[in-house]
Amino acid sequence: MSQDRCEQCAQPTAAYDAIHYGSVEGGYRLLCTQCFNAEVARRHGVTDFENVRLEPIRMVDCAGDAHQFHFQMRLLGTMLALDAFEIQDGFRAGYEFRIIGKPEDDVLTLLGRLVEKMRRTLAVKDLAINGSQFQIRDQTVRGLISSDPAGSGDIPVVVVDGREIGWDDFGRMLAAFEGWQFRLELRDLADDV
Ligand SMILES: [Zn+2]
Repeated sequence: MSQDRCEQCAQPTAAYDAIHYGSVEGGYRLLCTQCFNAEVARRHGVTDFENVRLEPIRMVDCAGDAHQFHFQMRLLGTMLALDAFEIQDGFRAGYEFRIIGKPEDDVLTLLGRLVEKMRRTLAVKDLAINGSQFQIRDQTVRGLISSDPAGSGDIPVVVVDGREIGWDDFGRMLAAFEGWQFRLELRDLADDV
């Protein structure tokens, strides 16, 4: 896992915990999440904000598989974004969740809301396995649009049930529904789907 150092506190910082902070004019600095939050708090005059680091937790999905979730809480001016995500090779991969709060919100209350959202999602699977092939279990599939680092860059991969599915494989799943209609709605990561 390659780690850069935070340019503020000089601590080794994993890619998922590093933020490029700054502007086109002033240039960018690589900051760890804690230093990023401190900088944003200072700049926006936010004083009633708990800049805490949340330890990873392990949760089990409805198929009995365990998932290790890391957290990142970012102060974004008048908003607080709390993310939970899995990590592979130092980068976000698999399930990802977000909720939005206010800087003065109690962090444990926000965390409780996020974990509740994670539980709801982990309790259902939209895909079923048929032999060695995944297929859409029912008539709804929810997922996250992601990118394939090994791909050409303009073809996405989707993450369904925390599992990365190639665009072609997703197409094959839809082929089982030839003649059906569909409605595709795009939602922010913080929204419920
Ligand atoms: Zn730092």
